[in-house]
Amino acid sequence: MKCWICNNPADTREHVIKQSDIRRLFGRGPYPKGKRLKRTDQNQNKKLIQSEDSIHIKYQKSLCKECNSARSQPWDEAYDKFMEYFLSHESELKNIRKVDFKNIDQYDNGTFSKRLYSYFIKSFGCQLQESGQIPPLELSEFLLEKRNNTNLKVTFAIYENMPQNLTSSMIQIRDLEGDYDNLLKMPLNFTWAVSIAWLTIIFWFNKVPAVALGSPFVGNTGNLGIGSYKDIGNS
Ligand SMILES: [Zn+2]
Repeated sequence: MKCWICNNPADTREHVIKQSDIRRLFGRGPYPKGKRLKRTDQNQNKKLIQSEDSIHIKYQKSLCKECNSARSQPWDEAYDKFMEYFLSHESELKNIRKVDFKNIDQYDNGTFSKRLYSYFIKSFGCQLQESGQIPPLELSEFLLEKRNNTNLKVTFAIYENMPQNLTSSMIQIRDLEGDYDNLLKMPLNFTWAVSIAWLTIIFWFNKVPAVALGSPFVGNTGNLGIGSYKDIGNS
């Protein structure tokens, strides 16, 4: 397989969920018997996860070493800062429903926003590749700085009805969905979502985000409006 960003041979695996997120919520592995994390996939297959480096929470090899390390390091760092801020300001953010990037990175002059967006593009592209889709060229072109926008919008929403009575924190990875054009024989759009504790991050490619789910983020603003997410599967 080739790296979907730069086309070199893909020899590394990207995490579906960042190791730092897993450590923030569950502590450092290896996890003792009885405290192992469970991953449930769309076919309800459960896998026990013994450490945050487990192969069950990584994608197939879809990136080269350069793209998965030096190139993406600033994006990963921006995302880590973002999540750290979110998860440590729970009551405030649930209350005011917006976030100013200056509170996360005080020296922000637009780079933070772009780097954060780049992280989400990388994450979304890996998810497409894993699901057997070809990541649209505009995603890799953006990451290689050959263009300055894409049709991916990201929204952030409070998970209002997350399952109660959980014994530990929760991460949910939802299925990739989309519409297919039978005439052109190609996908028209995609949506995907990940919940990390009470924060749900929703990806919209070629699709207009639902207003209630937060303000669309495309990496060029210094603030975000946080929306409200309810899983209709949860009572
Ligand atoms: Zn690469």
